[in-house]
Amino acid sequence: MKIICIGRNYSEHARELNNPIPAKPIFFMKPDSSLLLGNKPFFLPEFSSEIHHELEIVIKICRLGKHIDEKFAYRYYNEITAGIDFTARDLQNKCKKEGHPWEIAKAFDASAVLGKFLNLSLIGNINKISFSLKVNDKIVQQGNTADMLYDVDTIISYISKFVTLKIGDIIFTGTPAGVGQVSLNDHLEGFIEEKKVFDFKIK
Ligand code: ZN
Repeated sequence: MKIICIGRNYSEHARELNNPIPAKPIFFMKPDSSLLLGNKPFFLPEFSSEIHHELEIVIKICRLGKHIDEKFAYRYYNEITAGIDFTARDLQNKCKKEGHPWEIAKAFDASAVLGKFLNLSLIGNINKISFSLKVNDKIVQQGNTADMLYDVDTIISYISKFVTLKIGDIIFTGTPAGVGQVSLNDHLEGFIEEKKVFDFKIK
């Protein structure tokens, strides 16, 4: 399986990092070794002093597809969750400045946290899903898929022009505003609507 992540998909977040609004979706990938599942703790890596949380809605692909038309994209997913796209912001800023790829800042071990997947039929319209992140009991990120610059069906169609989507592939759909640094012993809890989908600690 592969993990595909969308960048700058919420205008407020693009603004907070002084990035332009993209004219097309931007995507990058993480390897399967970046998965962190089952509410296991995240261990701060020694190579970064600025690990940021990015709370995102995550889609699981349930059908093989290439060149997927937007109007049929809904057939390619039926489960979603919330996850964290952990980012070594200090390394990412350096990569951006030097025009280098982002992998060391984005694809490291345990950088792709997944919550428990929920059947989309129990949640409702993919384009009206609210989600939030609490750090130490305080809400720090709150988003709604209605505010995406490129909605899920557009993203799936766009990615599948370049990359064949396979059953079990995962798509992180971009983070809303409010990204920030995590610290030792922080407690992170992720919610879709009122349902808690992950709960873990920073070690
Ligand atoms: Zn992200």
